[in-house]
Order: sequence, then structure tokens, then C-alpha cells
Amino acid sequence: MTLSDRMSRFLRADVQGMHGYAVQPSAGFVKVDTMENPFRLPAPLRQALGERLAEVALNRYPAERGDVLRAELAKHARMPEGCDIMLGNGSDELISLLTLAADVPGNVVMAPLPGFVMYEMSAKLQGLRFVGVPLTPDFELDGPAMLAAVREHQPALLYIAYPNNPTANLWDDDVIDAIIEAAPGLVVIDEAYQPFAARDSLDRLRRHEHVVLMRTMSKFGLAGVRIGYMMGRQPLIAEIDKLRPPFNVSVLNCEAALFALEHVDEYAKQAATIRAEREKLHGEIAKLPGVRAFPSEANMILARVPDAKRVFEGMRARGVLIKNVSGLHPLLANCIRITIGTPEENPQTLAALRGALEELT
Ligand code: PMP
Repeated sequence: MTLSDRMSRFLRADVQGMHGYAVQPSAGFVKVDTMENPFRLPAPLRQALGERLAEVALNRYPAERGDVLRAELAKHARMPEGCDIMLGNGSDELISLLTLAADVPGNVVMAPLPGFVMYEMSAKLQGLRFVGVPLTPDFELDGPAMLAAVREHQPALLYIAYPNNPTANLWDDDVIDAIIEAAPGLVVIDEAYQPFAARDSLDRLRRHEHVVLMRTMSKFGLAGVRIGYMMGRQPLIAEIDKLRPPFNVSVLNCEAALFALEHVDEYAKQAATIRAEREKLHGEIAKLPGVRAFPSEANMILARVPDAKRVFEGMRARGVLIKNVSGLHPLLANCIRITIGTPEENPQTLAALRGALEELT
């Protein structure tokens, strides 16, 4: 029997037909494609972290350090009374666990589109129906369309990214609140980009039993460490937590995250620099002829250019790797997404964009 015969025996046909999550090769580029924090810790802190990790008991399962991290994250995030917090190997894992929890035949997962691709991918993988509700052409929430879709499809799980990826904006709070009021199931507010936004949804978590708040340490500065967390009412988190693979977050991840929380001022400084750099870069991109830069409350800028494919290639030829998001949704036609880099990288990004645009004419 060939390997292909064996694969068709055990593998789902829809998996064979799908594409995995795409990661672009990036070695040697100014890497501004995936909303990472471009800064590392200063060398003395890296040294201290190394010494700290050397003390970690790798022979033990990570339960105890996980509990310590949960308690520290709860303090850091000012978790409200009556809530609990669970950890994921990145918020990607939490999205998978939420979908697994909602895996009842007929259940619908809903999110505005364009949005973070994993909401849809994870729902489809689990065999759940995904309903995407288009944003307006300016990437605002379409309130009436969202409310109508909620009434019609009664979603078990509804995602609101605050701010949204790849559009980078925060949506109208009154519209979000009306959607939460109307939602019959769980509303997940995904605050991956919270370190760069002017507002958060902690108060929504306080006010609504059916809201959970999902955050990640990735954009904060620990994308390589893989720590996502989710806060919600105790009984709700207890149920979802039953689906978590035991020991999903390693002791090294936990210790590195604990170290980062002890140096939160350093990360806050980095986030402040990124926000200031965003304003500068946004101002410059917005001045370029033929380009529209959309408002950003995150560490990325979405921009519409005359020809996204050629601009992407022109920038790559100049050593700058961005993301061409045009193919993700019709509303994103000719849109590119640029992550905010360091003060040294951002002028290079801008120069590469200018050069790529000049080549079009
Ligand atoms: N939510 C949103 C909105 C994102 O954009 C991302 C990553 N780009 C994630 C969640 C996942 O982040 P992580 O798995 O690194 O925590």
C-alpha cells in the first residue's frame, strides 16, 4: 500500500484540499510582515533572563509555574472579580480550544470580515459553519448588517477583534455594545493589539457574563515565547479549560513571560516608541501620491496602493518584507499591511515603498 493510499485512509479530504497558515521566508529582510515588536530586551536584561532560565527545573511538568503566571497575568491585566484566566500556547491555541468547545452540530461561528484568518480557519477545521459579515468599505463595523446576521444565524461564538487585523482600527463602541447585547452565545473580544490601542474592553468583561477577553504576549514583545491568555467568568473558563491539553505552555515559556512581567516598564517604553513611530510613518505614507493609509490603533498600517502585488515585489527587491493582504478579502483589493519597525527600519520601509511606487509609473 502506498503512502498516498494510507493517507487517504486516515486523512480528512478537506484537510488534503486546504492551505496551511502561510509564513513567508524572511531571513535577511527588514521584517515588517507579522506585527512583531521589533525590539529585543537590552543586553543586561537578556543576560539576566538567561541566568533565570538556567535555574528552571526542566525535569518537571510546568503546572506550578503556569499557575504563578496566571496569577501575575491576572494582576497585570487587572482581571475583574469573579473571573478566571486560562493560558494558551499563543492565542491561536485558545481560538482552537474555543472552537472545540463550540463543536455542536449546527453551531455557527461569526466574525466581521476582513478579520483575523484563524477564526474562520479554526471553525472550518472543526466542521463548524463560519459566517463572515463584511465591514463597510472604510473598514468600519456594519452595525445593521451585523445585528441582522446575529439575529439570523444565532452564532454560538462571535469574535470582535479590538483593534482588528489586518485593518488595524478600533470600531465604534456603541455598535460593539449593541452586538454584544444581541449575541445569544459567547462573544470573544480579541485584544491582541491592546498595547498599542487607546481603549480596551475590560469594562465590557465586567458588565457582560457572556464576554471573554483574549490577549497575547506576542505583540507585547514575546511572539517567540507563545503565551496567550483568556479571561472570563469562572464557571465558563473552567469548562473551556477542560479541553486544554495538559501542560500546553512550557516551563521556559512561563518563566520568560514572568520575567517580562517583572520588567513591564521596559516593554511599556517599547510600546510607546512603536506608537510614536506609527504616527510618523502613517503621516509619511499618507502623503504618498496614489496611496491611502487607513487609521491605525495597532502596530501595523493598512494602506491601499495602485498595485499591491507589484508594490510588494518592489519592496521585497529593496530588502523590505511586508504583507500583501489583497487576496484575503474583496474589500482589501490592492491593500498592503506594514508592521511598525524600529526608528532605523521605518525610514527603510518608507524608502522601499517610495521606490516600489515610482517603479509603477
Ligand atoms: N488575534 C489577532 C487579532 C492576531 O492578529 C493574532 C496574530 N497575528 C493572534 C490573535 C494570534 O496571536 P498569538 O497566537 O501569537 O498569540
